Order: sequence, then C-alpha cells, then structure tokens
Amino acid sequence: MPVLTPGVPTALSPLVRRITAPNPSPMTGPGTNTYLVGIDEVAVIDPGPDDPGHVEVIIGAATADRIRWVLLTHGHPDHAPAAARLAARTGARICAFGGRHGPSAVDRRLGEGAVLDGTEFRLEALHTPGHAPDHLCFLLGEERILFSGDVVLGGMYSVVSPRRGGDMAAYLATLRRLRSLRLARIAPGHGEVIEEPRRVIDDYLAHRAERERQILEVLARGPARIPDLVAALYADVPPVLHEAAGWQVHAHLRWLRSRGLVRGRDARSRWSAA
Ligand SMILES: [Zn+2]
Repeated sequence: MPVLTPGVPTALSPLVRRITAPNPSPMTGPGTNTYLVGIDEVAVIDPGPDDPGHVEVIIGAATADRIRWVLLTHGHPDHAPAAARLAARTGARICAFGGRHGPSAVDRRLGEGAVLDGTEFRLEALHTPGHAPDHLCFLLGEERILFSGDVVLGGMYSVVSPRRGGDMAAYLATLRRLRSLRLARIAPGHGEVIEEPRRVIDDYLAHRAERERQILEVLARGPARIPDLVAALYADVPPVLHEAAGWQVHAHLRWLRSRGLVRGRDARSRWSAA
C-alpha cells in the first residue's frame, strides 16, 4: 500500500493517481487527497486548500493542457479553494453541485446522475448529502472506484456538523445508499484507499447507531448539555477533537428530536429525553 506523502503523485490504478495536499491536521488526517483521473484528458477531484505549491504538483503530474475538469466533492475549505487557481492555470472547467452552499465560481453544475466523459473514463456524479448539503461522490465506472469526499474516510470517521450544513438523517441515508452500490474500492477525501467498502460502511453505520444509543443512555439519567455528553461519550478522544465531537453530538440530537425521542432547542441548551 503506497504511503500518503504530501506532494508525491502515487498511482492507485491504471486511471487514477493521488496527490495528498500539505494540510495535515487532527481534522484532515494526513491531508486532503487530490485525485487525478485519466491520462490524455484529466479530471482533478478536490484540488484542496489554495496552496500554490500543491497546484504546481498537480500540473506537473498531468501537464496543464490535459487538465480539462476540476471536480469538487463539496465546498468545504480543505477541498475546494484551489479550484480557482488551478482553473486559471489550465483553462479547466470547474464542476460541482453548486447552488447556495457550493463554491462561487462553478462552470458546470452537476446534479444526481450527471456524467462526465473523458477519452478513457466515465465519471458519474451521485448527490450524497449529510456531511454537507452540496456533497457529491464520483463513481469511476471502468474501475468501480468511488471517490467519496468526506462521506467515508480512510482510518477515521466523518464529522457531521450542523454548523457546516451537516444533517445526520441525510448522512445515514447516504451511507445506506453507498452500501447498496457494487464498489471495488473507495478513494476517500482523507486517508488511505478502502479495499473493503461494505465492511467499512457497515462499521460507520454501527458506530453512529452506538453513539445514538449512548446519548439516549446518558439522557435517561437526566438532562445534559452537549459538553456533558461529549465528556461522557468521547473520553478516549483527544481534547483537540472535542469541539468537533460536540458538533457530531448536536447532529445526533437533532436527528433524535426529529423522531420525537429527545427535547432541546439548540447547541447551547439543555437536552432531555422526551
Ligand atoms: Zn468536508
């Protein structure tokens, strides 16, 4: 298995190369994965944060005139901002879900089922909301590889934050949909390639169900605020990730409230069992 070394293009298959951006952090893991699909005509998926050096590595790996499209899985700041710089350097068209939540300068809006045809490949867009409302995954038909953005990650769980457009009900529906697809591999937005897509998606679904069960268990003992729930549920998680854990708990609480199982107003209020 190739290692995730920022700035070094790595071949993952005959059609796919990966370059990890130099933005490692507790939230982005080893950094954002940029994928190059195709050889004669290249689609770049998620060019990452606006890092001029990373953009030069992408161009160096593909040559400027072959980069025809910049595809964005979603508009979050660790995935999309380099699109404008890369498009300006190459003339590539920026393709994304667009709409209110998407990045501003989109040349082509891709909805559910939109298809992008290169000389050697066909990529299909799947609208996969939950982590973000504008989230797309891209399926490379020839190799059954799914570019999953932030829906499924390698070696860590995705964050669903209501403050960044996240919605737990939509996220779980998206996971169940991806589970139903016939996938050979998943190429995630962060972390290593996933060779057993169903097993990992099952683990994600089980993890979310377990968090929900834990939240209900704590609330059964009495009302609690989100930081209390984080302290009870995330004792094994480093403190630097507790804020993100709080968003995750908030997303669960909203999903539980929509089913009439808990009561609470917002991220700062006290929540109780219904
Ligand atoms: Zn994201």
